[in-house]
Amino acid sequence: MLITEKAQQFINKEDKYGAHNYHPLPVVLSRGKGVYLWDVDGKKYFDFLSAYSAVNQGHCHPKIVKALTGQAETLCLTSRAFYNDCLGPYEEFVHHYFGYDKMLPMNSGAEAVETGLKLARKWGYLKKGIPENEAIVVACEGNFHGRTITIVSLSTDSEARADYGPYTPGIETIPYNDVDAVQKIFEEKGDKIAGFLVEPIQGEAGVFVPDDGYLKACKHLCEQHNILFIADEVQTGIARTGKLLCCDHEGIRPDIVILGKAISGGVLPVSAVLADNEIMMTIKPGQHGSTFGGFPLACKVAIAALEVVKEEKLAEKAEQLGEIFRDEMRKLNSPFVKQIRGKGLLNAIVIEPHNGKEAWDVCLKMAENGLLAKPTHQHIIRFAPPLVITEEELREAIEIIKKSIKTLE
Ligand SMILES: *Cc1c(COP(=O)(O)O)cnc(C)c1O
Repeated sequence: MLITEKAQQFINKEDKYGAHNYHPLPVVLSRGKGVYLWDVDGKKYFDFLSAYSAVNQGHCHPKIVKALTGQAETLCLTSRAFYNDCLGPYEEFVHHYFGYDKMLPMNSGAEAVETGLKLARKWGYLKKGIPENEAIVVACEGNFHGRTITIVSLSTDSEARADYGPYTPGIETIPYNDVDAVQKIFEEKGDKIAGFLVEPIQGEAGVFVPDDGYLKACKHLCEQHNILFIADEVQTGIARTGKLLCCDHEGIRPDIVILGKAISGGVLPVSAVLADNEIMMTIKPGQHGSTFGGFPLACKVAIAALEVVKEEKLAEKAEQLGEIFRDEMRKLNSPFVKQIRGKGLLNAIVIEPHNGKEAWDVCLKMAENGLLAKPTHQHIIRFAPPLVITEEELREAIEIIKKSIKTLE
């Protein structure tokens, strides 16, 4: 794929002055609108990553940007040392929107996961009566919950984890999509387990969709053993999979919901933890916080972003368009395509290397043809366009994907 001199200059600067903690596709972007991105040379692309599902509402959504600029000129940050006139209304809005007694606002997804884990431990000691310092959190193999020390302590991905020890104790990992494994560990250690942390679909692992009934069975076991069911909906939440929350597909209500990414439509880092009083009220003043958590700008942006999801029926769209996407991809009879899976507009193709070409080459070819996606774990390509995409745009994008794969055969 051609990299212009102009683009190369920006790549060189990141290379020289930035930490090398990512391996980006060689595309330098400078503008976005809806489902489209433009690079520094003016070339237009479909965005089929949506910043890992943070941009469900589309790039620079006018309503969200208006909320941002309006509030930016009024009041940005107060800290939680004082009250402000945005946070309360935002918390009330979220209460009605998701149906939980309370929310705790944070900024990044990882921070919200950390908050969820702290909350589970606190509840475990104060309500469940777990002996001091003995609480256990159970997580699933293949998980991705972020990048802090405690979260990489939960990880089974050696790349995410290696050389960051010593790791946080009080963690057990079990296979994903395995109800028996949940039952076994709950029966063995249930009186010390505070929470079960799970992604309703494992996004970073490559869009692993568990069997129907898995989440429901896990929730049931959590109830039997008085263990909190903690759903990390940072990637799957906010309409991405065809429902507001992915857990809605199984009709279950997690004890703790973790949200991030699209809660701000990709405009600001905003995250949140939702829980009912019995759990949330175990944390008392001074026991947790964040300088920016729930700052006025974030409150206004998140309300606008969540309104867009309802106003533009993004969950329904994701459900319908996801069916079209998977149907069309299944027609693609190619030696490259090993499997197609997903829910709503969170989908992936598992690539079988062919002719010495692999997922990375497919992504380069698609970029050349005007569509951006990124491999995860070498051989899996995730396809997650902004949910504002129209059927016509989706069909156009599908043609680009098909053409790109075909020309590599
Ligand atoms: C992206 C992601 C996170 C971490 O969010 P950050 O904002 O990058 O810290 C946590 N959980 C899941 C499921 C994610 O996809």
